This record gives sequence, C-alpha cells and structure tokens, in this order.
Amino acid sequence: MVERRSRRSFLKGGAAGAFGGAALASPLAGLAQAVERTPQSSSPSALRITGVRGGLIRGQHSLFVKVETNQGIHGCAEAVDGVYGTYYVMKHIAERHLIGRNPLDVHRLQEEMRRGGLFKGAQAGMYVAVMSALETALWDLVGKALGLPVYQLLGGKFRDKIRVYCDTAGSRLPPEEMGRRAKEDVEKYGFTAVKFDIDDAADPRKLDRYNWSVSLPELERMVGQIAAVRAAVGPHIDICVDCHGRFDEQSGHRIAKAMEPFNLMWLEEPVPAEFPEAYARIRQETTTPICGGENWYLTYGFRRPLEIAACDVIMPDLQKAGGLGEGQRIASLANTYNVPFAPHMVASYLGAMASAHVCASVPNFLILEWQIYFHTDKMFQEIVTFDGPMLTADGHIPLREAPGIGVEIDEDALRKYAVKDVPFFE
Ligand code: MG
Repeated sequence: MVERRSRRSFLKGGAAGAFGGAALASPLAGLAQAVERTPQSSSPSALRITGVRGGLIRGQHSLFVKVETNQGIHGCAEAVDGVYGTYYVMKHIAERHLIGRNPLDVHRLQEEMRRGGLFKGAQAGMYVAVMSALETALWDLVGKALGLPVYQLLGGKFRDKIRVYCDTAGSRLPPEEMGRRAKEDVEKYGFTAVKFDIDDAADPRKLDRYNWSVSLPELERMVGQIAAVRAAVGPHIDICVDCHGRFDEQSGHRIAKAMEPFNLMWLEEPVPAEFPEAYARIRQETTTPICGGENWYLTYGFRRPLEIAACDVIMPDLQKAGGLGEGQRIASLANTYNVPFAPHMVASYLGAMASAHVCASVPNFLILEWQIYFHTDKMFQEIVTFDGPMLTADGHIPLREAPGIGVEIDEDALRKYAVKDVPFFE
C-alpha cells in the first residue's frame, strides 16, 4: 500500500521537482498516467462503488451484473430463475445500497440490501435473486482488490477440486436413450454422477395435465427409465432423480419407494417446496435419500426444513438464495444438523465457479450441479472467459487461484443474447 502511494507521489511531485516541468512532457508523464490508470488495489480503504450495470439474456434466463469502482476494479456475477423483469430492481437496490459505498464490507452491504427490502419482497423470489448477483459481484470485486481468490476470502478451502454431477434432463426420453446419455456423460466427460428428470406434464399416462397424483403407468415409465440409467452406468456411478416439486405427498412417497432398488444419491423435490413437513414424512418412510432446497431462500428458508429433518441433502441455488456468503451460512447451518450441502446450479460457468468457491470452503460439501449445455450450447462458451480447463478429466471443477471468482464475462458476447426492449449494461 505504502509503496504504490509513494511511487505515485514521487512521479507527481518529486520527479517533477527533480527534472523540472519540461521533463514531465517526456516518458515520465506517460508513466505517471499509466500508474494513475492502474487499479489501486493497494488502497482498499479508498475503494468506492461508482456504478452497477447489468442485463438480462436468453429469454430472461439470467441476469448478469457488473459492479464498478473508482479504482477501475470491477466485480461480475449472475442470478437465475427469479430474474424476469428485474433490470430496474437491480438498479434500485444498487442506487439505494451500493453506490458510493466501500465494497469490502460484503456481509454488511448484503444485510443492508436485505433489511432495506423487507417490505419489497426480500424474503424470497426476485428481490433475493437480484441481491444474490450483487452480493456475489462484491466478492469477485473484493478478491480482485486484495489479490485473493474468493474461497480464501471465505476462510480457505477444504478441497482443491469440486465434484459435479451432470444434469442431463429430458424426462420424455425413452429408457434406452436415457441410458445412452447417462453412459455418454460418464465415458465422454468423466462425470461420476448424473441427474435425470422424471416428471412430465405432457405424459399421456398422466390422469390429466393438472393433477399431480402419479398414475400406475406413469410410475412404470419412471421405473423403466431409471432402471435403464442404472444398467447403463453400473453400480458405482451416482444417480439423482428430479421431480421439480410437482407431486402430491402420497405420490412422492410411492415414487421414493419405487426408486429404492436403484440406490439413488437422491430423489429431488418429490413434493412442492411449500411442504417441508411432507418431505420429512416421505423421508421417514423410504430408504431413498430425499433432497430439497432449490426453491428455498436465505438461511431463514432452510431453518425449518433442517429443524424437522426434512431432507437427507440440501440443495440451495447460490445464484438466487442470497449469494455466496449466504450460501456458506446455509451450509454451516446444515452442518450443525449433519446434513450435506449440494448446491443447485443452472447458471453459466461464472455461476458454476462462484458456487465452487463456496463448495470449497465448507466441510459438508457433497456435490455441485453441472449442466450438459456447457458442452452443447455455444452461448455458454461465448459469454465467459477464464484460464485453464473447465473440468478435470475425472468430472471435477478445478478451483481457480486467480483473484476473485476467476471467470470474466464478455459484454459484447452477452449483448448478442440480450433481451429485447430492456436496457442492457447501461
Ligand atoms: Mg431440481
């Protein structure tokens, strides 16, 4: 800190004095300007947030934000799901709670954003999703200011690489195709765990489109699909099965029982997130592990489910549940109940890597979600930049040592996918 300041003052004052005014028109003047333009990460106490810009892409799937400062350092992050129409929510929260503030006080700013929104929906949903992006961008920014990776700011790491499972989706696939894709995930990319959806609103076997009691033919279809996946990947690859919180309690129970022979890593959201007591009852009646949390927000949202032992595994989405510090608090609360932490993740590689820093920083991390679209959809390759491989050969995210999250966004690439008629990074 002292060194860079004294260098600058030497160039501005001492050097001018020594060489005279005319000498400053020479290379030294250019050097002085270069030093001025250099991010002054050695002066964190003078760091101030000067602007927050962002934009929505791809049918409002994601909100990307960039927090800018008076020292040229910026932080980037992303929120998902609860972000439809939130451009001005982002601008409002930033104006009210971030502009002019020192970004180093991340927990304090996050709590001020949350408390400041208590009458605006800061309990769940869109407000918390937007806050998650802003909070995460602060971690990225602070890491860059201090020259440290985010996991280090969160207290250090328990592990160097983050195990992921591949969400392969496709609940309408015939069993043989599900099995083929599961095998490809394992053999082509090295994943040690896969996930498939088994709820299908358009399944003609359903009683009707709106009723979510599982029919016997529907249950038979689910069993056929997951049996094919297990047969394809063998006994040592983990399998997750997602119901997207759709079924009634009796159906959730029947599905969990029907899945018992397949030794799942978990059955995800068998019933709606609004009924943690139903999760607890289903869990007591089956050997299939039950996972929930994709639609619970903030640490407060996980308190009741953990108190009543609703889940074997929790899966907060760190791009919407409150941010990275909040994710660590949720993991820590779960740890006091001896429950593993397996974040949901449907963001870009920026979101995956941001989540990975939290996963590295807690003892009870189990696994993180990964999306097959990283390999198949060019948008997800265009919008971010980073050094090194995305994945290790054995299906893990390598933890990055670069300051901040370690992944940058490409604004020009994002603009190609911007939602029309909504301001974009203005
Ligand atoms: Mg899910």
